[in-house]
Amino acid sequence: MTNVAQNTQKILEKDLHQKFIFYGKNAKEWTRKCALLLPEINHLQIWKKKGFENIYEYARILAGMSTNAVNDALRILKKVENKPELKWVINKKGINAVRPIVSIATQETANFWAEKAMEMSKNTLEAYVKEFKKEHTEAKVTESIFCPSTENRHSQNLFSKLKMELDPKITDQLNKLKGQGNWNELMQKLLQAYQAQLEASKPIPQENAKRYVPAKIKNYVLIKTNNTCAFPGCTKEYKYLHHTWRFALTKTHDPDSLIPLCKAHEHLAHAGLIENENQSPENWKIKLETDKTSKKWQKIDKWVSKYYTGEQMEKRTNTG
Ligand SMILES: [Zn+2]
Repeated sequence: MTNVAQNTQKILEKDLHQKFIFYGKNAKEWTRKCALLLPEINHLQIWKKKGFENIYEYARILAGMSTNAVNDALRILKKVENKPELKWVINKKGINAVRPIVSIATQETANFWAEKAMEMSKNTLEAYVKEFKKEHTEAKVTESIFCPSTENRHSQNLFSKLKMELDPKITDQLNKLKGQGNWNELMQKLLQAYQAQLEASKPIPQENAKRYVPAKIKNYVLIKTNNTCAFPGCTKEYKYLHHTWRFALTKTHDPDSLIPLCKAHEHLAHAGLIENENQSPENWKIKLETDKTSKKWQKIDKWVSKYYTGEQMEKRTNTG
């Protein structure tokens, strides 16, 4: 092909793609509007009056909706029938956008959750809801544990169990090391020794840096979680090396504030919803509201979040 022909071909393809995106976006919007009408149509049995076998046939023939889509819409819309804020989200972003919150939102909190659903992608919202539930149920458990007597603090309730499969030799060595003491003390000692060893090999921060994280720093950071997301309780493989002070603000790769995160938790960080983000991750919790006056938000996160909640046409680089 000549250059001219190649260019013409490229323009044609781009045009087709743009049209498809445009039509698709409109099709989705109209399907969302149809879905919102279904409960009322079903309630008034309009499908029957118009000569259809059932609501499914009605929705399939008139709007191309599958049986699953109809069931899903009816089920979710039933749950939000007294929450106009969530209906509004469905109208704007579709049924999927409210799926993570339908069981947690109440009439009193619907506004809070609607805001979150508008600002976050579905995956990020799921991660947020998971943390939210954890913090709320944990709070209840701790309340019941904190009885007047301090003895209870050392009761078994405050320890968690970890099951491990070990080589019998290692098991024996560990048992010897524990000796007459307890596992918690031994593990603490081992951890401290390991952390001290890591600390000794810590590379110095790179200032006035380019975006690319130097291998030495990257390796050090990833060893700390063995390539896993550092968010408390998360076991997913990391996807981004997250700069807790935001690289664009500091132009620095600091091994202490460069944190490996999975996609959902990195998005949560850029949504400005991580409490104590500048401390080490074991102190992290989710926040209820984003601080929209902070420099991080104003200069960076606002734009990153906008990008994340928008349609992702291009892939980002893997540092954030
Ligand atoms: Zn994670």
